[in-house]
Amino acid sequence: MNDPAMWSRGRLEAVPHCPACGSVRRDPHKFARRDNEGMMPDVWCVVRCADCGSLWLDPRPDSESLPRAYDDYYTHVVVSEDVPDSGATGLAWRLIRGYLNRRFGMQRKPANALGYAIFSSIEPWRLKLDYYGRHLTRANFPNPGTLLDIGCGNGAFLGRAAEMGWNVHGCEPDAKAVSACRQLGLDVVQGDAFDSSLDGREFDVITLSHVIEHVVDAPSLLRRIVTLLRPGGRLWMALPNPGSIGMRVLGSSWLELHPPYHLCIPSQSVVCDWLAAVGFLNVEFIRRGAHAGRRWMRACDIATRESLPFPSSGRLLAWRLAADGLATLSAGSSEETVVIASKPRNKA
Ligand SMILES: [Zn+2]
Repeated sequence: MNDPAMWSRGRLEAVPHCPACGSVRRDPHKFARRDNEGMMPDVWCVVRCADCGSLWLDPRPDSESLPRAYDDYYTHVVVSEDVPDSGATGLAWRLIRGYLNRRFGMQRKPANALGYAIFSSIEPWRLKLDYYGRHLTRANFPNPGTLLDIGCGNGAFLGRAAEMGWNVHGCEPDAKAVSACRQLGLDVVQGDAFDSSLDGREFDVITLSHVIEHVVDAPSLLRRIVTLLRPGGRLWMALPNPGSIGMRVLGSSWLELHPPYHLCIPSQSVVCDWLAAVGFLNVEFIRRGAHAGRRWMRACDIATRESLPFPSSGRLLAWRLAADGLATLSAGSSEETVVIASKPRNKA
């Protein structure tokens, strides 16, 4: 693999302009490493735009070879959940379920109703649990309608949304993931959001979790989402945040660089511009609360495997507490950007 125009599964293409804002100005420092799982031999390079702060992969697999990166991708595997409710009966889990049941209309058992009052008053955890339900609270959605999860993976969230009373649908390109969803009885289209079987359909809510950073043309996907939402419908989207504490502290080890899958990780200002450009209103970035620990542990594994510099455990713990604390106070520096927006009620 010494040909600079090739990677182990095909050809490379250069990306001279920032895919988020079109600038050619980039920070001098680059972030280099292999993929998160160490499956492929290729060392990738991620650069940061000096104008908008977005990150992008340069060079990246060309359009013909990019799908081969997904040959052994893991969307069909059960990924560990942020709130891994395995049915444990201890008091903490009963309280968590008490919160989720009242907040989202779930019916989980065993539960303790006191959990609602308790977790409502512990802000980092309230935010974490609200993220688990993608902020589709019963207070805001007393009568859940139809929901489409784009890139629904193994259907973990669709199952949860069904528990919350939503009429759920998904689309997912990975055949194994679609098969896993269908075994759970979920209605999932095998394909992306542009699949013709979705043409003409309208949903009350569309969610996409860690999808937009994988696509070559994110604004087109957002335009498509506008057509798939009913007037007044809600978009919920999560993606990595290139302005996060983790990116600053962990650098090349940051989990969310995720080469070569993450083609462009837009900054929050770019996300805001993109959403406004396709007509979304009421764009709101949501605080994430306690969330950094699991991601940073995986970053530590990557650093060890790739022999990358990594903070000492004491320094790491201090930064992690700072990251969770700041993510409780503000949406700007959390590991993930979480944003909601509405389609105008009268056609845009
Ligand atoms: Zn840029």
